[in-house]
Amino acid sequence: MKTIIRNARVLTMDADDTILVRADVLVDGQTIVAVGPDLDFADGEIRQIDGAGKLVMPGLINGHFHSPVNHLKGSLDSLPLEVFMLYESPPLDEAGMSPRGAYVRTMLGALEMLKNGVTAVQDDAFFVPAPRPEIIDAVMQAYADSGIRATVALDQPNVPELEKLPFLADMLPPKLKADLAQPAPMCAEGLLECYRYLIHRWHGAAGGRLCAAVSCSAPQRVTPDYFAALDALSRAHDLPFYIHMLETKLQRVLGEEKFGGRSLIRYVHDLGLLSDRLNIIHSVWVDDADIALIAAAGSVVAHNPISNMRLGSGVMPFRRLRDAGVPICLGTDEAIADDSINMWLVAKIAGLIHNLSDPDYERWPTANEVLDCLIRGGAKAMRQSDRLGRIEAGCQADLILVDLDTLPFTPLNDLRRQLVYCESGSSVRLTMVAGKVVVENGRVTTVDEAALRAEARENAERFAHNQGVVDQAAAELQPYYRAMYLKAAARPVGMNRWVGDAAANQQG
Ligand SMILES: [Zn+2]
Repeated sequence: MKTIIRNARVLTMDADDTILVRADVLVDGQTIVAVGPDLDFADGEIRQIDGAGKLVMPGLINGHFHSPVNHLKGSLDSLPLEVFMLYESPPLDEAGMSPRGAYVRTMLGALEMLKNGVTAVQDDAFFVPAPRPEIIDAVMQAYADSGIRATVALDQPNVPELEKLPFLADMLPPKLKADLAQPAPMCAEGLLECYRYLIHRWHGAAGGRLCAAVSCSAPQRVTPDYFAALDALSRAHDLPFYIHMLETKLQRVLGEEKFGGRSLIRYVHDLGLLSDRLNIIHSVWVDDADIALIAAAGSVVAHNPISNMRLGSGVMPFRRLRDAGVPICLGTDEAIADDSINMWLVAKIAGLIHNLSDPDYERWPTANEVLDCLIRGGAKAMRQSDRLGRIEAGCQADLILVDLDTLPFTPLNDLRRQLVYCESGSSVRLTMVAGKVVVENGRVTTVDEAALRAEARENAERFAHNQGVVDQAAAELQPYYRAMYLKAAARPVGMNRWVGDAAANQQG
């Protein structure tokens, strides 16, 4: 099937940052085959789309996401990560999770992203209590059916909860301490077996749209042996490797307490596992020595500014990372920590939040830099820079059509700034992934969205009971987690990543 979009403005995101004021984009199969004014094309089996008054640009890339809580958006008030996790990955939530439930849940996020112009997502999917082949299949089948491009990992710990956190062992009463010292639900060999299943069955599926990644979740959540085995898997198949590092101040303190006074970045470096395949998620409480190690390894940092605000984690040192040459992609993080799953809002906040952390306005992000992170950074994080992120012959046809005859773009003063600061997704008229139109004029073409929404509502009634049980279990632990959190927050760590009164209250 061929498609030609005629007479559109084109933000190419090519190496020269070219904007074409009027051009055609010709797509054959999955691929963009030509871009330029007044293209010749053979009549016959071709769909023509009028692009006049519209913009063609590469689809947005959600560089970091966790689909398993798609159905829980808006469930929680804002809480710091460590307390939040008591409620967010509850042990009971998945007890009744059928493959169909997981399918519907995954679909909710995929459709919300596609309708907002996101064409690709990296899903660091966790499974409570542990992955099962039928649930892995459900997640991947939802991505296959929705039409989005997805790279998916299994985000699972293999150490007990008690070992992942500082101070708790000395704070908890014996009964709760024994509960948290229980082994993780699945051992390393079981998890690696799940990875072999994911890679064998799904890596490269749906015409290459679906890919596997690996994830250790975070260095403190896995044993060094399992961590190294995941690295070997990532190397053997050239897969992105997801790892949350130094998201919170408590994780900085954890390095001091449990990893010989080292930062977690240094710990991973000392294991020999920092690499250019790593997606270092968050990277908020990093110092200059950490940044130098990240840059030398060639790792990508995944920046999730809305999640970082929702969980009060702090402000990532954007300019220091950019100055060091570290590639940055943008992500929403999960649907309870950025409840809109909207990459336009993430881009806007990424363009604004760093203005608060440096008085030198020459170091503030520009709109062009934000778009670079949003599109090119995302493609790099996925290890698909050779085929994603540009409107250029030879690239995958992952593109969106943005209506410029809308209020966010009227009048058109500066295209890039209006994309970052004005647009919210409401001007997206068409989303194409791998040459296939998956959203057009606000309607998903691949699946019955209304039926899926109805099914998700029915499922939610069944989950409501679980949430009550989970809340009760969390309430028992919450005072100890709060004490742990406050003890870590009070400790000077040689840097400050909070702003406003919180910054003034910190000694650094
Ligand atoms: Zn995350």
